[in-house]
Amino acid sequence: MRNQGLRIGLIPTMGALHEGHVSLIEASKRDNDVTICSLFVNPTQFNEKSDFSDYPRQLDTDLALLENAKCDIVFAPPVTEVYPEEDKEVYQLGEVVEILEGTGRPGHFNGMASVVKRLFDLTNPHQAYFGIKDYQQCLAVKALVKNYHLGINIVCCPIFREESGLAMSSRNLLLSKEGKILAAHLHQCLELLNKSSQKKESNALQYLGESYLQKINGIELEYLEILNSETLKPPTNADKTPMVALVAAWIEGVRLIDNMILQE
Ligand code: AMP
Repeated sequence: MRNQGLRIGLIPTMGALHEGHVSLIEASKRDNDVTICSLFVNPTQFNEKSDFSDYPRQLDTDLALLENAKCDIVFAPPVTEVYPEEDKEVYQLGEVVEILEGTGRPGHFNGMASVVKRLFDLTNPHQAYFGIKDYQQCLAVKALVKNYHLGINIVCCPIFREESGLAMSSRNLLLSKEGKILAAHLHQCLELLNKSSQKKESNALQYLGESYLQKINGIELEYLEILNSETLKPPTNADKTPMVALVAAWIEGVRLIDNMILQE
């Protein structure tokens, strides 16, 4: 297809697809001639065995959803096709992977880089689509492409949310109805920070967010940080880029993440 001059867009996913994934497919369909969606629950990016084994898998439902979304090609390889041999590379992704998800989930970004690089090699796309929902991942994939001269355009797409504001995630399938109601507080907290961002310094915003979430029974906060949205360093008055609020929390034993650029 490449040789025929067609433009190819790739959406790497771990399956258990939802409308957030469909929004990436739609973005690729607008920009490219051929859209490939990969479905692969990547063992190397999970640092806990139970998290990997509990991760939702629903191939038939995913295939129906992809057909409905008019995705051109589905690539759902077995582990041996992606990793015929172990990838021993230690990927250089810069400082953006050394904090938050990087410290909370040791080895996660290296495993992510490993699979994304393999999927790029196997599908050879012009462009690849990722969700800003995984904020650090977007920065890390851009660093991967830059540092390894991969020549693929990385498109980062907005977060698709439920009506309650809850960011869509495959992991939401593991939550009860009550858990989902609780989880919507993550978004409400981010909205509060966005509304307060003109009036408060980053430290005060962090305190506001932490206090909001710590008061809610059933939410176990892992981190809430206010950082420079480009460098993920503490914001300074000289910054020209807006701040981003990033949060990770546990609800009913499920780890959820969300974020928002503070620009109100
Ligand atoms: P996953 O299958 O969870 O690894 O996600 C595959 C891709 O979809 C990643 O680039 C995610 O950031 C993106 N994604 C997941 N949830 C959402 C969402 N709610 N809105 C937009 N993109 C998303």
